[in-house]
Amino acid sequence: MIDQIIPATDTPGAKGARVNEFIDVILTEWANDDERRNFLSSLADVDKQSNTLFGKNFADASSEQQIVLLRSFDESAAIARSVDKHRPPQWEPAGRDTLMQDDFFTVFKKMTLHGYYTSEIGFSNELKLQIIPGAQHGCIPLAPGRGCGLIGANMATTTYDAIVVGSGITGGWAAKELTEKGLNTLVLEAGRSIVPERDYVEHVPVWELKHRGWDNRAERERSQPIQRECYYACDEYSHQFFVNDKENPYTFAPGKHFSWIRGRQVGGKSIMWGRQSYRWSDLDFEANFERGNRPSIGPSATRTSLPGTTTWKSSPASAARLKACRSCPTENFSRRWR
Ligand SMILES: Cc1cc2nc3c(=O)[nH]c(=O)nc-3n(C[C@H](O)[C@H](O)[C@H](O)COP(=O)(O)OP(=O)(O)OC[C@H]3O[C@@H](n4cnc5c(N)ncnc54)[C@H](O)[C@@H]3O)c2cc1C
Repeated sequence: MIDQIIPATDTPGAKGARVNEFIDVILTEWANDDERRNFLSSLADVDKQSNTLFGKNFADASSEQQIVLLRSFDESAAIARSVDKHRPPQWEPAGRDTLMQDDFFTVFKKMTLHGYYTSEIGFSNELKLQIIPGAQHGCIPLAPGRGCGLIGANMATTTYDAIVVGSGITGGWAAKELTEKGLNTLVLEAGRSIVPERDYVEHVPVWELKHRGWDNRAERERSQPIQRECYYACDEYSHQFFVNDKENPYTFAPGKHFSWIRGRQVGGKSIMWGRQSYRWSDLDFEANFERGNRPSIGPSATRTSLPGTTTWKSSPASAARLKACRSCPTENFSRRWR
C-alpha cells in the first residue's frame, strides 16, 4: 500500500525509504491499544474488500486493481474530512496524540507521507532540503581567558564580590553587568553543562529520531507530563532540556494549578526559548495596574513591602505618561514610542 501511495520514480518510493519500518515503530511503541487494534482490523478489512472485489488479497491484486481500491478509500476519506472540519491541529494541545484518531486511510496516508518525507531519501533526495544550509563560521578571535570562562573562571579565588545563583537569562545578564563593573563574580548553576556539538538539536536529521518527530509518547507522559504541556518545544528533539517532572516535584495551593516549565542546565531556559525579543516600556509594566487587574511591576513602580502585606504603587510620572498616551491619536502614539 505504501508503495502505491509513493511509488518509486527517479527517486526511491516509500518502500525504498523503509516507511514500513516507521509504521511498525509507531504501531508497536507509539499507538495505544485501541489505536493499534483499530489500525490492524482496518488493515485486515483492506484484504476483505480486495477479496470481495477481485477474489484475492490486496498484495496479490494487480497494480491497477490496487489503485482502484486505494482511490475508493481516498475518496471516502476526503468526504469524511470535509464533514468533520473541527479537528484541532496536532500542534495545538487539544490535537496532540490524536494522530491516529481519524479514519483508517487518512491515518495510513498521513503515516506514509510523514515516514517518507522524514526519511533521508524523502528529505534530501526528494525535497532537496538540507538540515543546516550553509554554515556559520565565527570570525572574531577569542583572547585568552575570554569566551565561556564565566562559570568556574577564577575558581581558585575564594573571595567573590558577588555570587549569582542560576545561569539563565537573568543570572547571565546579572553576571555580565557585575563583571563589566569589575566585580569578581561567581555564577552557581545547579544544572549540567551544555556541550553544543553534543547537546544542540538543530542539526539532528529527523530520520535519526526513532519516532520521526511523533515523539516517545509513553515516555513523555511518564516522566515529563507537565513539561510536555509546553507542547511545541518539549518534544522528541528538545525534551532533554526540560526537567524530569518525577524527579522535580513541587506543590501548589489547591485549585491554583501551576505548570512549572523548567530548564536545568547552563543557560537555563535560554536554551529552549522561542527567540521573540520584546521591547518593553514602562507602559507595559503599568498596564495591568492601570486596569486595576494585577500589581504593577517594573522600574517605575514602587513596591512597599511590610510584614504580611504587599502593596504596589505606580509612580506619578509613569501614570501621567500612560494617561497622556491614551489620549494620543494612534499615529502620535506609535511615532512617540517607536
Ligand atoms: C519553550 C519556551 C519558549 C520561550 N520563548 C520565549 C520568547 O520567545 N521570548 C521571551 O521573551 N521569552 C521566552 N520564554 C521565556 C524565557 O525563556 C524565560 O523567561 C527566561 O529564559 C527565564 O530566564 P531566567 O534566567 O529568569 O530563568 P531560567 O532560565 O529558568 O534560569 C534559572 C537557572 O537557575 C538554575 N537553578 C535553579 N535552581 C538553582 C539552585 N538552587 N542553584 C543553582 N542554580 C539553580 C537553573 O538550572 C537554571 O539554569 C520561553 C520559555 C520557554 C520554556
